Amino acid sequence: MTGRPGRATRNGRSGRSGAQAGAGDLLALVRNGRAVTRGALQQATGLSRATVGQRLDRLFRAGWLREGAGGPVDSPLGGRPSITLEFDDSHAVVLAADLDTRHARAAVLSLTGEILAEQSGTLVVEEGPESVLGELGGWFEELLVKAGHRAEEVCGIGLAVPGPVDSETGRVVQPPIMPGWDGYDIRGRMSRAFTERTGAPAVPVLVDNDANLMAYGEQRTGYPDCTAFVLVKISTGIGAGVVVDGSIYRGVDGGAGDIGHIRVGADAVCRCGSQGCLAAVASGGAVARRLAASGVPAASGSDVRDLLAAGHPEAAALAREAGRRVGDVLATVVTLLNPGVLMIAGDLAGTPFLTGVRELLYQRALPRSTAHLDVVTSRLGDRAGLVGAGALVVEHLYAPDRVEERLAAMGV
Ligand SMILES: [Zn+2]
Repeated sequence: MTGRPGRATRNGRSGRSGAQAGAGDLLALVRNGRAVTRGALQQATGLSRATVGQRLDRLFRAGWLREGAGGPVDSPLGGRPSITLEFDDSHAVVLAADLDTRHARAAVLSLTGEILAEQSGTLVVEEGPESVLGELGGWFEELLVKAGHRAEEVCGIGLAVPGPVDSETGRVVQPPIMPGWDGYDIRGRMSRAFTERTGAPAVPVLVDNDANLMAYGEQRTGYPDCTAFVLVKISTGIGAGVVVDGSIYRGVDGGAGDIGHIRVGADAVCRCGSQGCLAAVASGGAVARRLAASGVPAASGSDVRDLLAAGHPEAAALAREAGRRVGDVLATVVTLLNPGVLMIAGDLAGTPFLTGVRELLYQRALPRSTAHLDVVTSRLGDRAGLVGAGALVVEHLYAPDRVEERLAAMGV
């Protein structure tokens, strides 16, 4: 389990406390706001004032910690008010990209998740990983110029992809809508594209499923206290991301949340080759096909999105019907997971679809599992995947154990 990036130590929850607490544990306490003064760190860890001072010194020398601008606050140990400490996010930046089937979005983000420069455009995953990731390297090069940052400041790259990912290897596993990507070394190719374009040293590349990273981004920024959070993305395909106790729940090999290929007994053939999948009748792609069959020009989830935004009545009726189909499956999902928030995101997320989801969900799920459930739409919109991918990289690199390793490698 500990081999999976960031899993054991995400949010510093399982970091050591007490006499063993290292610089990484102190940084985690500052970053998550649980202890932001020297006195509070002493109290949280049981370390002596001198030891806390030595460990903080390493973080100051690395440029990872700074004194807060907020002025002194009362110390929990009494005595003079203490200076607050904060994570210094100016020492590095993160690159992130969110790939959809025909479209991508990429950004430079600060370590605290602020988008510093952003770009979106056509990038067709069907053209294969070699070309897509090569082109993305070019996007990153331009974005760094736009953001005014050097490639040497980049500490890591996060990628959201529309398929199931084994987070151990960063490779996609039998992705129905990513032909040519199955088992491909995405990390290696992305890293090479980055170094070839920029001449900067290689950095860690983390890859995860798009719905997982959207869920992670939305939960962290909008619902940090929600301990069971589910996001369903309805675009060309359908996928779900689950965040439990602040961590992405991936299952044993990254397959958790792939609800688009649950058989719902319809006769439509799915892109995965099976018949009757949920995605074959209720995704943006499925709605587009039905619109096209009745003479409305639509070829993709994003076309449906445009029609919905323009108030097209047939698109709205079909979106509501798709919502009912998805709501039926979500009744089982919420019964199993009992989430506090169920977020609907992606091209079809809007009032008609949400209405359909609610109709079936509340009818089919036990009242017990929906009593404290909020069914909502996305807050971050098209940026959710980017924010989640950036956060994944930061939580990986600043997990307590990795902080120790990185400080040692820097010689501080
Ligand atoms: Zn399928």
